[in-house]
Order: sequence, then structure tokens, then C-alpha cells
Amino acid sequence: MTVGDGREYFVSTPAPAAKRYICPGCGASLAVGQTQVTAWEADSLLGGEAALEFRRHWHLACWRSFAAG
Ligand SMILES: [Zn+2]
Repeated sequence: MTVGDGREYFVSTPAPAAKRYICPGCGASLAVGQTQVTAWEADSLLGGEAALEFRRHWHLACWRSFAAG
């Protein structure tokens, strides 16, 4: 999907977080079990597999806000 910053991202379906992550949207941590989405750039200069290495874990609400621009 293309999001607010004009880039194309792959986005997982929402699922409970398996461990603690820092949400890039708000900078706060995700709690274990909290609903998250995983997103990574589809069009990375590094290539798809490298981009997958750098996938980020977002609060669902933070992702929606980011995706809406
Ligand atoms: Zn967040």
C-alpha cells in the first residue's frame, strides 16, 4: 500500500506483539500482546529482503495515522 509519505509499504495483518518493540510512530514501546502491525518498504533501495530485515512494528492506531498522512 502507498501511505502518507508517498512510499509503498508491505503491511502485515494486525496481530499481538510477540515481544517488546519501539513504535516508530510515537516512540513508545509496544507491550507484549498489544495489537501491532508490521510494515516495511516495498521499494527499498536495499532490495526487498534487506527491507524485510528493517521491518518496523507499529501500534495499530499509529500506523493508521501514518498511513493516512
Ligand atoms: Zn505508537
